[in-house]
Amino acid sequence: MIIPSTDDDGRNDPLEEGPEFHAHYMHMALAEARQAAEEEEVPIGAVIVHGERVVARAHNQREQLRDPTAHAEMIAITQAAQSLNSWRLEGCVLYVTLEPCPMCAGAIVQARIPTVVYGASDPKAGAVESLYRLLSDPRLNHRCQVVPGVLRDACAEVLSRFFQQQRQLGKK
Ligand SMILES: [Zn+2]
Repeated sequence: MIIPSTDDDGRNDPLEEGPEFHAHYMHMALAEARQAAEEEEVPIGAVIVHGERVVARAHNQREQLRDPTAHAEMIAITQAAQSLNSWRLEGCVLYVTLEPCPMCAGAIVQARIPTVVYGASDPKAGAVESLYRLLSDPRLNHRCQVVPGVLRDACAEVLSRFFQQQRQLGKK
């Protein structure tokens, strides 16, 4: 039996993967975001991948659960921890359509997620690059590799279309 070597040639380093690799999972996160919109939730989706296995896929459910913490990333982190039977999400990549907020960035640090890939920036609440840089703060005990701007336009569009529709309906 040939056991595949876990050599250090960078092949398994998510940052070494081509843009198509990240786009594949970001499309999956976008599908979650669209599902959120169907449920009249702010359309944000997240996917967590461990190796090549999807261990979580979730979307914002704040309205349905009446829970201010029910952001896509928080739900996905809980799912992944259950799937891997560990709070420590080593070897995972989190894909999310919008730059994480301070709460989710905090949870990402707590979960020790090594790599975060996001789509659109959030100038109003982003805690990765826009308002704060929680994932690269040397004072915290964990730092992530970050890949911003994957399918940025598609991720931003699903949000702007949702808010436009809500305005037309006089809801928000
Ligand atoms: Zn959040």
